[in-house]
Amino acid sequence: MAVPALDAEKLKENALTSIRLGIEDFQRSRLAPEQNGDPARALSAIRNLFAGVLLLFKYKIATSVDDPQDAATLIFNPPEVLPQADGNGGVEWQPVGKFKRTTIDVATIKKRFEGFDIEMDWATIEKLQECRNHLEHLHPANTLGEVADFVAELFPILRDFVQTQINEQPAELLGAAWPIMLDHHTFFMDTRKECVAAWNEAGVPDMMQPWLEKCQCEDCGSSLLRPHADDIEEGMSVEGHDDAFRYLCVACGHSDLIGPLMIKNLDDAYDYDPRDGGEPSVETCNECQRDTFVIGEQHCLWCGAELDYTECAVCEEALRQDDQFNGGLCGYHHHVYEKAMRDD
Ligand SMILES: [Zn+2]
Ligand SMILES: [Zn+2]
Ligand SMILES: [Zn+2]
Repeated sequence: MAVPALDAEKLKENALTSIRLGIEDFQRSRLAPEQNGDPARALSAIRNLFAGVLLLFKYKIATSVDDPQDAATLIFNPPEVLPQADGNGGVEWQPVGKFKRTTIDVATIKKRFEGFDIEMDWATIEKLQECRNHLEHLHPANTLGEVADFVAELFPILRDFVQTQINEQPAELLGAAWPIMLDHHTFFMDTRKECVAAWNEAGVPDMMQPWLEKCQCEDCGSSLLRPHADDIEEGMSVEGHDDAFRYLCVACGHSDLIGPLMIKNLDDAYDYDPRDGGEPSVETCNECQRDTFVIGEQHCLWCGAELDYTECAVCEEALRQDDQFNGGLCGYHHHVYEKAMRDD
């Protein structure tokens, strides 16, 4: 099956152009309007950067084989392979049609990487892809912080890939885009470290820590949140003052309550749809009245409240907060027991 040979150098050129444009968009999105800034560029920054990285991945795949025609078969979507009768009562699997004009997507790039033993942090790539898809639906003004997160997270992937897989120096290959990304990444990591250290002094309940880490500014989507200095100075703690303790967004200056945001992240993660037969897995804690009691784990992530009775003494069914007044029995066995007592 003839496929036109692939010009791998063209792929590389397109990749670099895309990344350069992405970084230009990124810079424009961050400038004030009077400095010729334009927040609407945030989305094209993400689109260009992500496309550029995928092109670089395809370039790597294409240059993993010697023959440019083989390279094309790896980069373009292959024809579908379908079963056909072989005329003797057997079956033959045959490709139907030609290689398509479209090139492979993220899922197929992943398969090619696996096939050619090219290592990649797919968890981060998939997170970035999710972020890109999610940003398509938001107003650009509400994405600036998240875009900054995106660029910072993309940086180590790009740096390592260029060094270890393309065998070039990122500063040379990426030109002017490189120092901008480097500075941004350095700023981002330093700020994140400061934020983490500051929250460590803010009295966040231990078990809520993972949900704090998922918090993003409600105005710009940035993950660079720190405890509000005034509230720290007041001697407040997140644990005891979730109705007053505020975060401050380092990216845009917005501030709001951190407690409800953490609880919202928790509840969203355990979201369910009763129409699908789902049941809630988080409920209001009887001790602290917050929506932080994880039913399956039988404890409250905020105040640490646990159940006195965790399973029915008769059938060993897991008990819930509602069952606690049944003296260690499930609803059914409590009922059976009550009935037996009455009948005596
Ligand atoms: Zn913000
Ligand atoms: Zn509680
Ligand atoms: Zn029982």
